[in-house]
Amino acid sequence: MAWTGLGITAGYHRLLSHRAYKAHPFVKNFLLVGATFAIQSSAFDWCSGHRTHHKFVDDEYKDPYSARRGFLFSHLGWMLRNYPSSQFDYKNIADLKKDKILCHQHKYYGLWIVATNLVMLPLIGWLVGDIWGVMVLAGLLRLVLTHHFTFFINSLCHMFGSRPYTDSNTARDNFLLALFTWGEGYHNYHHYFEHDYRNGIKWWQYDPTKWLIFSLSKLHLVSKLKRVDDATIKKAQLEMRFKRTQTKLKKIEEFLAIVNAKRDNLRTEFEELKTRVTQERLAFQQTMEEWQALKKQQMEMKRAKFSERLQNADEKMKEQFQQMENKIIYHSQQFEKTFKQLRLVPVAVK
Ligand SMILES: [Zn+2]
Ligand SMILES: [Zn+2]
Repeated sequence: MAWTGLGITAGYHRLLSHRAYKAHPFVKNFLLVGATFAIQSSAFDWCSGHRTHHKFVDDEYKDPYSARRGFLFSHLGWMLRNYPSSQFDYKNIADLKKDKILCHQHKYYGLWIVATNLVMLPLIGWLVGDIWGVMVLAGLLRLVLTHHFTFFINSLCHMFGSRPYTDSNTARDNFLLALFTWGEGYHNYHHYFEHDYRNGIKWWQYDPTKWLIFSLSKLHLVSKLKRVDDATIKKAQLEMRFKRTQTKLKKIEEFLAIVNAKRDNLRTEFEELKTRVTQERLAFQQTMEEWQALKKQQMEMKRAKFSERLQNADEKMKEQFQQMENKIIYHSQQFEKTFKQLRLVPVAVK
């Protein structure tokens, strides 16, 4: 499983597609055999497709695994049908075409697969005394898992995770996916600095492919490891952070503008309400004065003892009193309404 997985990540991907380091022919061919075990097409096809993916990342038609065409397409849909985006003309792998062993692998790819998966694998099974166990576990299960884990890079690594270095494409850094992909989960970094032999640049970032290449360099089996210098990486990170802060500030500004507009509206409503309260109060006062005058008039009439006239006037006065009382009730209702409106005004308004 490790041989297959690292054959793809350290071999097909970082060595052949990106030329991130130079390898001793022994290492290169060992990784090449490991990658052939994966049955993920020849190095020519894989690397040509991958270089196109980097060049036209996210382009709906030119990127062979474009994440913009949905999860299923970027995960494995791209290989189920002969899409125009996956027709390689191999112009972008002129350097690889000079390698005789790679040419042989491409030309006789079927044979290579038979030799690895149908000859070498049962041989290993025979050596350990369990041909079928090895064929099923190290064969089928490994194939299914390696395929999906590799395809995760094209699908999930372009959907979930952070973008600390660039947001000019959909690639993301995702620690969880790094766990399943031999360290290839730091895909945002990789798309920005594709020639770096590392994907997880911090020492603690889970990138077994990087550790393997580094260890091999200590054994002088690989050399010329390409690394982007720390200052350039920091610059990319800071630029991204600055960009994010700008966007945030803009959003806060827009929010404040909305709040201010709302506050101005509330202030106008509040002023109108205040005027109405004063008007209501004056009207009520006037009614009360009228009521008091009527009361006074009644008292005076009573005192004058115009009994007969009083009798007639009393009916009329009762009616007036009734009207007056209705008016008072009306005012108190109006007040009640205004106060209710006052209660609706948010207390936070200053
Ligand atoms: Zn990608
Ligand atoms: Zn790549």
